[in-house]
Amino acid sequence: MSAVVLDGKKLSGVVRDEVKARVSEFREMYGRVPGLDVILVGDDAGSVVYTRNKEKASIEVGMRGRLHRMPASTTTAAVAEFVASLNRDPEVDGILVQLPLPRGIDAATVLDLIDPTKDVDGLHPSNAGLLLLGRGMPLVACTPTGCMRLLELAGSKLEGAHAVVVGRSAMVGKPMAQLLLAANATVTMAHSRTNDLRALCKTADILVAAVGRPELVRGDWIKPGATVIDVGINRIASEGGRDRLVGDVAFQEALDVAGAITPVPGGVGPMTIAMLLANTVRAAELREQRGSLHHFGV
Ligand code: NAD
Repeated sequence: MSAVVLDGKKLSGVVRDEVKARVSEFREMYGRVPGLDVILVGDDAGSVVYTRNKEKASIEVGMRGRLHRMPASTTTAAVAEFVASLNRDPEVDGILVQLPLPRGIDAATVLDLIDPTKDVDGLHPSNAGLLLLGRGMPLVACTPTGCMRLLELAGSKLEGAHAVVVGRSAMVGKPMAQLLLAANATVTMAHSRTNDLRALCKTADILVAAVGRPELVRGDWIKPGATVIDVGINRIASEGGRDRLVGDVAFQEALDVAGAITPVPGGVGPMTIAMLLANTVRAAELREQRGSLHHFGV
């Protein structure tokens, strides 16, 4: 048996087209375009590439995208002040502070200051809390919402399924577990202190690996026919001297066992950026709708 490979690149194109259509509707309705502002502190090579891609992707779908760079030597107060200025700017719909921040900058202080209605990374306690409580219309972290779209593409039945999420970060593992729970899966969260991870993974109908350990999940950890979502992005040196990217799942081994699987690269990665665009247009729509309700005294 060979698993269906879930093409995240192709699906991300579908999401981008949806966003493009919403952006043009938005422009007709409100006479402006949604705006995404990305803050990059320092010059970490990976973050420079990621943030440029985010800026470029937002412009490609017709939004206003801006990348703001600050030196690594800046202070928490200076970043916080800049975030506050973006909060006040009515043209700004989405604010993203690229993580990780350099040592010396207090990430929680900065992230907690972002206006929750502009928090397109879904990391503000107010958005994370609403997701946990299953209330309101929170902005939800982009990688897990991208994973949910991939599960939809796989046609995986979530209701009643056993989903195992390996990794408990605020950005991926925790919101992923909440989204699966909201979709009526029975969810188990696993992490670095979980006993017998292999046996646990083997019980999963849906297996999400968000760990950051190259090929941790082996083929014989996977239940036959399971849907496997590999979030991990690990750069490893290969024989030719050039780095290559691998996921948290041993892809070739998994292909023989799983029912469906995301590749690395070309699976979850492209979906994350597409969902960031979707979150930004959604944030803009919600802000305008709230604004007009406010206008009518509601
Ligand atoms: P993180 O370091 O914040 O969290 C890793 C989690 O894995 C922790 O909760 C830890 O308990 C768990 N863990 C560590 N070692 C383990 C082990 N041996 N067994 C079981 N659990 C273990 O990382 P993160 O931000 O959640 O990212 C995880 C991976 O996903 C990384 O490779 C990252 O690059 C990747 N990532 C990819 C995307 C994307 O768009 N594809 C987005 C975000 C993160």
